[in-house]
Amino acid sequence: MHLFFRRLFQTLKDFLFPPVCSACNSLLPYPLKYVCPACEINFVASYTAHGVVIPKMQYLKENYNLQEAFALYPFSKDGSIEKMLYALKYRGQKSVGVYFGKKLAAYLAKNLPPFDGLIGVPLHSKRKNLRGYNQVDIMGQTVEELLSIPYYPSVLKRVVSTPPLSQTTRDRRTVLANAFAGCFDALPPGGHFLLMDDIFTTGATLEACLNVLSSSSHYRFSIATIAYRI
Ligand SMILES: [Zn+2]
Repeated sequence: MHLFFRRLFQTLKDFLFPPVCSACNSLLPYPLKYVCPACEINFVASYTAHGVVIPKMQYLKENYNLQEAFALYPFSKDGSIEKMLYALKYRGQKSVGVYFGKKLAAYLAKNLPPFDGLIGVPLHSKRKNLRGYNQVDIMGQTVEELLSIPYYPSVLKRVVSTPPLSQTTRDRRTVLANAFAGCFDALPPGGHFLLMDDIFTTGATLEACLNVLSSSSHYRFSIATIAYRI
C-alpha cells in the first residue's frame, strides 16, 4: 500500500511539475527523467576508456600508485555536462546525481573488476548544510545500490572550509593542504577502493585526499570523476 501511494504521489508530481531536461530545461517526453535526447547525444562517453591520457590524472596515478584513474566525460564550458553538474550542485536537482551514478555504475560493471568499496570526496559541513546534500554521496549511493559495492561517505572528512576553485587566487595545493582528515575504521584491510568526485580540474582536491588515504599502507586505491575539464 505504501508503494502504491508513493507511485501515485510521483505520478501526480510528474503531472503537475513535468520533469525538464537538466541541461536545456526543455520538457522531457515520458518516461525520461534527467536529460533530453538532443543534449545526451552530445556526450562523448568514456573519455579515458578510449586511451586518452589525462596528464594530471596520469601524474596522480604514478605518484600514488593507483590501479585506475579515469573520468567519464570531457567537460567543456557551457556544454551539457557542465549545465547538468551546475543544476546538481546549485539548483537542487539531486536526480542529476542519480543519473551520473547510473552512468558510473554502468562503466564500472563493464570495464573494471569489482571494487571493495567507494569513497566520496566530502564537502565541509558548512557547505553541505547550505546545499542540503553532498552531490558525490548521491552518486556513490546510486552505485552502491546498483552494484552492491559499499559506499563510505565518512572515511574522509573535510576539516577546513576552503573557497571554491573559481574564487581562489593562491595555489590550490597550498589552500587544500590539511583540508582533509581520514578515519579508516570502517574499511576492510587489504581492499581496493575507488575514490570518487564530480569534476577533475587541477587534481589538487583528489591529491589532498590521496595524501590522507595513502598514509595507511593497508589499501589500494583508484580514482574516478564524472567529468574532466579540458
Ligand atoms: Zn536538453
